[in-house]
Amino acid sequence: MKVAVLKETFPGERRVALVPAAVGPLVKSGLEVAVEAGAGVAAGFSDDAYRAAGATIVSRDEAFAADGVLAVRICGACGDGWCADRDRLRPGAILIGMCDPLGEPGACSEAADKGVTLFALELVPRITRAQSMDVLSSQANIAGYRAVLLAANVLPRILPMMTTAAGTLTPAKVLVLGAGVAGLQAIATAKRLGAQVSAYDVRPAVKEQVQSLGAKFVELPLETGSSEAAGGYAKAMGEEFYAQQRELLGKVVADSDVVICTALIPGQKAPVLVTGAMVARMRPGSVIVDMAAERGGNCEGSKPDETVVVDGVTILGPTNLPAEVPAHTSQLYAKNVATFLAHLVKAGLPQLALDDEICRDTLVATGGQLVHPKVRERAGLPPLAAPAPASG
Ligand code: NAD
Repeated sequence: MKVAVLKETFPGERRVALVPAAVGPLVKSGLEVAVEAGAGVAAGFSDDAYRAAGATIVSRDEAFAADGVLAVRICGACGDGWCADRDRLRPGAILIGMCDPLGEPGACSEAADKGVTLFALELVPRITRAQSMDVLSSQANIAGYRAVLLAANVLPRILPMMTTAAGTLTPAKVLVLGAGVAGLQAIATAKRLGAQVSAYDVRPAVKEQVQSLGAKFVELPLETGSSEAAGGYAKAMGEEFYAQQRELLGKVVADSDVVICTALIPGQKAPVLVTGAMVARMRPGSVIVDMAAERGGNCEGSKPDETVVVDGVTILGPTNLPAEVPAHTSQLYAKNVATFLAHLVKAGLPQLALDDEICRDTLVATGGQLVHPKVRERAGLPPLAAPAPASG
């Protein structure tokens, strides 16, 4: 079986689906690996490094002729680039990457029409045995780190306390809203940089994790008993709850120099946790990094990939922080992809092991149709009557 790595085309995307270090083990396991010319350059990996690892360098058209195509962004996740790639798809080819299946089901539907088998890595189940394939975690972790560095760069203060002959500087106060994978890494990073860190999450179970990182958990007198859904995700809570939450958070936000917003509800618009009125109460020079900007934002007024200054407060809305640290995020992504691929091959790829949870949950399209129930629902299609046909 031959797999090929695409050069990413999405604006600003600097990651690559496989790094040279991940090529060797795949070749050793019997796969032939091809890499589109220049695919790794933006992440710091030359074509020569891939050649030395055992890959061949190919054109984009040749890459699409492989049995399996590996990408960071494909289908709905690669923007305008998808239009050109759609026509390169070959019936029976296997596509593996992040494809925004729930946000852009139409693009997945187009891939299905081309007869490809499409796996969405965003849909890897959050179960222990799939942890090493979990791209959402590997990338969110680094994004959380990067968000704190962004804030530190913009903030007109330093983060740690410093006692000098010229006087003592007090530590910056950093508030992290949402303590999932990105939030916990933001907490850890801000702590390492010497800030005074507090964090809030709607899921009470997170309190211990926040405290174990040395941060203060902000307790709000809210009924949060039903806030956790299956898989540890937060549930949407209703506008009355959010209004109360914002009122209670107002004082903590006003007292913070930096707010890192990471709160998300799977498959839904992000909850608004910081209103314009709350921003107005913050000290001038304060910084908000809204990591949820792409999904509507946790902070009113944040704009995707823009810097907005409101009442002296700088609001950043970065949408692709992992691409800003491409060497390491690609290294982790490559490990996720290689493990996923090895898992599928072991399970019988190109035959699909639909009795396997990881294969079944990530499979979006095969045999000419969308087969993932949630993606079908988002695409406005009725549930499939019969189980998905096994094909490769
Ligand atoms: P996410 O990106 O969906 O959300 C980020 C955080 O925002 C979550 O902690 C959520 O509770 C929080 N949030 C949502 N609404 C909020 C609100 N109104 N106020 C404050 N906070 C709010 O979450 P994630 O980082 O992807 O992690 C989700 C869960 O999955 C966690 O429980 C995590 O431990 C679990 N997880 C499990 C595995 C595994 O077992 N393999 C891997 C990764 C994550």
